[in-house]
Amino acid sequence: MYAARTVASASRAAEASRVMPGGDTRAITWFLPHPLFVEEGRGCELVDVDGNVYLDLLSNYTSLVHGHAHPAITAAVARQAARGTAFAAAHDGQVQLARLLCERVGSVERVRFCNSGTEAVMLALRLARAFTGRPLVAKAEGGYHGSWDGVEASVEPEPATAGSRERPATVPESEGLLPGAAESLVVIPFNDLAAAEAILEPLADRLAAVIIEPVAGVAGTIPADPEYLQGLRALTQRLGALLVLDEVITLRLAPGGAQALYGVSPDLTTMGKIIGGGLPVGAVGGREEVMALTDPGRPGFLPHSGTFNGNAATTAAGVAALELLTAAECERLNGLGDRFREAICALGAELGLPVTASGLGSLLTIHLLDEPPGNYREARRADPEGVRLLHLALLNEGVFAARRGMLCLSTLMGESEVERALAAIRRAVLAVHAERPLPTRAAGELVAEAR
Ligand code: PMP
Repeated sequence: MYAARTVASASRAAEASRVMPGGDTRAITWFLPHPLFVEEGRGCELVDVDGNVYLDLLSNYTSLVHGHAHPAITAAVARQAARGTAFAAAHDGQVQLARLLCERVGSVERVRFCNSGTEAVMLALRLARAFTGRPLVAKAEGGYHGSWDGVEASVEPEPATAGSRERPATVPESEGLLPGAAESLVVIPFNDLAAAEAILEPLADRLAAVIIEPVAGVAGTIPADPEYLQGLRALTQRLGALLVLDEVITLRLAPGGAQALYGVSPDLTTMGKIIGGGLPVGAVGGREEVMALTDPGRPGFLPHSGTFNGNAATTAAGVAALELLTAAECERLNGLGDRFREAICALGAELGLPVTASGLGSLLTIHLLDEPPGNYREARRADPEGVRLLHLALLNEGVFAARRGMLCLSTLMGESEVERALAAIRRAVLAVHAERPLPTRAAGELVAEAR
């Protein structure tokens, strides 16, 4: 069905593979039988090259919190583009965006800009190592912090090589990583404070930082337990290490980010996605004394440059996007997300099928499981073929979601979009079940239409 609806995408993909390996340029947007080619984004909808229309519940992996081509953002970019997009000099747009971040995010006293979340994490961990003079960084199993050698281990490890639950192994994600990269990375279990403490306490004098997502995105938008995040804050303080909160996807949850919701104040925060209003962006913010290491006026400073750092088009878009994202809008979207998640869980219970949802506020993931997972290993119990079929079925039903079932809401959405999505999800789940029966819940009963 997907192949029949997307013949123009298929031929574009075949053409594309002559100039790009696999016909795509982001591993995460590629899938079989062929990746989708998009013609246009319109508000909260996408149109593909075959003319199919989708409710965009991915918003370029959560970054387009105001949907596509928001008039206020496109106007801000157009205004700035007419006056220059990037200068080898400072400009007011950088200061405006930095000031907004300092005002909104409690722990952020100073900001440096870069061009992606990946670069933000690179800088944050370099700062942590330089500030503490220590070599090791700890990350959670299933945690994703961008595509670079320093953190690309144990993101999606095979259970057979992943070590024990309490003491996960550091499993490199691929060949080709810098020699030594895995040795300087310690992996802790997500949402198990006692096990994390048992691993990290003995490393005290060598641990520079713990980097953690408040909501583990790639693992399945799994929220950290508040005690876990607060415990990591206390632990890092006790060990003299820095806590780096990776808010690349969670900054959308409140003007002050997830840290405001959790009441946790990290030393450094990595940001990206929404703060660029849809254009490439990254930023590190945090304690003045740590951030000051990047001040070129200081002897022995830590050089941090980039041709497009803080470019004027991005900062104009970012300022416009953040100004639109008020506290009231964050709350409204989070409430809508909570109802969306509850309705997906209720759908699973009603159909007697393993369908549930996890997440926080406007971030969620559909899991083909009986219960929302609490960590990567639990999320992995879902049948991968079912997950693959569900993604294609959602596309067939006009819902654009991540391959792994991640969804998010944008400010252009309200109850009617959530109802539209829920109806499509119901049809998609039933289509998957018809093609490849999902295991029924132990205590559940199939409803007539599902049988
Ligand atoms: N950290 C987290 C938590 C992310 O979700 C991502 C991207 N999805 C990154 C870092 C990397 O950001 P980017 O793709 O902009 O490099």
